[in-house]
Amino acid sequence: MKYPALVIDKNKLYHNANSIISKCHQNNIKVAAVTKVFCADKSITQIILDAKPDYLADSRIENLIKLQEFDIPKMLLRIPMISQADDVVKYADISLNSEIETIFKINDAATAQNKKHKIILMIDLGDLREGIWFKDFKDYIIPVFKLKNIDVIGIGVNLTCYGGVIPKYENLSLLIEYADYIETKFDKKLDIISGGNSSSLYLVYENNLPSRINNLRLGESIVLGRETAFGNPVPETYDDAFLLVAEIVELKEKPSVPIGEIGMDAFGNKPTFVDKGIVKRVICAVGKQDISLDGIIPVDKNIEILGASSDHLILNVSNSDKNYKVGDKVEFKLTYGGLLAASTSNYVNKVVI
Ligand SMILES: *Cc1c(COP(=O)(O)O)cnc(C)c1O
Repeated sequence: MKYPALVIDKNKLYHNANSIISKCHQNNIKVAAVTKVFCADKSITQIILDAKPDYLADSRIENLIKLQEFDIPKMLLRIPMISQADDVVKYADISLNSEIETIFKINDAATAQNKKHKIILMIDLGDLREGIWFKDFKDYIIPVFKLKNIDVIGIGVNLTCYGGVIPKYENLSLLIEYADYIETKFDKKLDIISGGNSSSLYLVYENNLPSRINNLRLGESIVLGRETAFGNPVPETYDDAFLLVAEIVELKEKPSVPIGEIGMDAFGNKPTFVDKGIVKRVICAVGKQDISLDGIIPVDKNIEILGASSDHLILNVSNSDKNYKVGDKVEFKLTYGGLLAASTSNYVNKVVI
């Protein structure tokens, strides 16, 4: 195997996807499985597809293009760029939208391609990332319903991603009020009321998601077995379906404090050090080009992460029970940020086992 490697345990990932998707289906919630954190890698996507999600969803058109061969509706998650309107119609069956000008352009593109494009109108209930501000929502959306090649199939919300706002029965119920408004005013049944991302999942397990919410867009919970409102493990899931594995290229006993005047490190920061005497220092062949330092968690709990530069990860293994040697492999669990970086790095070998 080539290292550094991102090793995906097929059985564990399937188990996570199946466990969460079944739970949602039992509660009449359809699941858009979000592929962006692993760059819509096809073999990884296939494992999740085996657990029968209802949609695939990604923020980037490039990723949706990769997924074209899968026969399942595809959702574009990030508010589209106006300059992308043609590709949105071509490669996404559904897009999430909040800007009138963009929706008009998508309507033009859909007309030119002789298609009807489905959209979900995003409403901002206070998290302050995307969405039409809830107080402006009712007036703002009126012109959209006159467009011939746009089909408004639902409304949706995104919480926690920016403002950290926690989804609750109360704030999500507002979404339903707005759905009722659309249905009455425009005499139109909405198929999708999308109640958010992995931060809304805990409400499903607590039986506290407003009952008309019938869609969630789930990435992190499936992939890392973690819900994102409180950071708790999701019941019946693994947190190590994805592991980063790096190889040791140097192992030496050296002091814990550098010798000489301390200037700036490779990233322009002035480092500080705690003197722990002579320590057993390991260098792994992986670095900030592939990972973020706070995005990796050593599986061996006695390993301390000392730092990293672009291509070197430095660990203190003095307290480990294991007798590491040059050439040994060190395993790390990943946070969302760690997985995102490792997936995106061309230098990390992705291996499904
Ligand atoms: C990334 C994203 C999701 C998925 O978020 P997770 O926390 O990974 O479940 C859902 N909706 C939107 C709009 C997103 O951008």
